[in-house]
Amino acid sequence: MEKIKMTTPLVEMDGDEMTRILWQWIKDILICPFVDLKTEYYDLGLKNRDLTDDKVTSDSAIATKKYGVAVKCATITPNAQRVEEYSLKKMYKSPNGTIRAMLDGTVFRAPIIVDGITPYIPTWKKPIVIARHAYGDVYKAVDGKAGVGKAVLSYKDENGALVEKEVFDFKDGGVVMAMHNTDKSIESFARACFNYALSMRLPLWFSTKDTISKVYDGDFKTIFESVYQNDYKEKFEKAGIEYMYTLIDDVVARIVRSEGGIVWACKNYDGDVMSDMVATAYGSLAMMTSVLVSPDGIYEYEAAHGTVTRHYYKYIKGEETSTNPVATIFAWSGALRKRGELDKNSELMDFADRLEKATITTIESGEMTGDLVGLFKKDGVTPKKLCSKEFLQAIATRI
Ligand code: NAP
Ligand code: MG
Repeated sequence: MEKIKMTTPLVEMDGDEMTRILWQWIKDILICPFVDLKTEYYDLGLKNRDLTDDKVTSDSAIATKKYGVAVKCATITPNAQRVEEYSLKKMYKSPNGTIRAMLDGTVFRAPIIVDGITPYIPTWKKPIVIARHAYGDVYKAVDGKAGVGKAVLSYKDENGALVEKEVFDFKDGGVVMAMHNTDKSIESFARACFNYALSMRLPLWFSTKDTISKVYDGDFKTIFESVYQNDYKEKFEKAGIEYMYTLIDDVVARIVRSEGGIVWACKNYDGDVMSDMVATAYGSLAMMTSVLVSPDGIYEYEAAHGTVTRHYYKYIKGEETSTNPVATIFAWSGALRKRGELDKNSELMDFADRLEKATITTIESGEMTGDLVGLFKKDGVTPKKLCSKEFLQAIATRI
């Protein structure tokens, strides 16, 4: 069989521990036998980040800007224990944080749906994608304790003019907080959400609490609406999808009743909380994909979980592990499909579809990793636990 050709390379960001092992196996067993894989390789493994003083991370983000599509393996974010374990020169920042800041992106997380693994909300038949604004609000807030006295919010403009508003006149102690966001960041967030919804052909719901927070949340609502009217309305109508703004309480109620198949854009705090709820309701973090989308349409695909350290320590002792590679496989298929779309390479897009379908069919036929066995219930199918490599081989036979 002739292998599928690629014209433009993917930016490949290798990573750490168990996911680094899975990374190589996925390439060897599921991709390279079928695709003449072209990548520009960046080793974001902790050792190489240390060797390059973390330059490799920013280099990989620059390459992503150049080519437009990247696939990233999970990486260690070093803490004090890792600094010792790897004898690091310093405690490097999270690679995801560095890349996100350079690409100015929004993170979209979507569950992978399998027949046999029922969400805790059984009406959810299709994925609910959470789009989380990853800048500002309570995460960059200034807060403090108040005693008896007046808290005042003051703003000095560039000419020195001062505006002051009384927050509260405390008669006893209490707490006070000030937070911010920027129109530029909100607009980037809006564009990333509209682009993502279009690329997935899914409706976009955006929620805030602008009835209460009339100016602050009102700003988010207004910016989304103007970006939509100016740049996306026609494209949405053409694609047959809708954009809806509504109150967060209303979305929560609608989401529970829905069958999924929606992109839900959330402010920073809402997205933090709701993505954990949605991930748990769908069953497992190992079945959750994550993609960073920049406002100018650059895509970086990854798994939502970490490097699965506990499994890695078993692996280096020579034990076989049943680590779930599905989210990492979907990071690859997502990146290959997007590359195919940009290069008008229908064979590559078709391969991505086949790879995903083969993965899901394998699980639906009862062959899966250990984490899924307890969740799986399907008439006439007894789930069987495979080690990671056996599972990958079972998928390969179905591509
Ligand atoms: P983790 O790697 O996601 O693993 C936590 C636990 O979740 C595992 O021990 C395992 O449970 C289960 N799990 C996660 N993924 C799984 C999979 N694919 N298959 C089977 N089980 C899976 O999180 P962590 O242990 O908190 O973090 C480990 C390292 O990952 C840290 O150094 C952290 O910095 C890094 N991290 C990286 C990213 C990223 O690059 N995007 C994200 C998060 C964390 P059992 O042990 O019970 O089997
Ligand atoms: Mg959270």
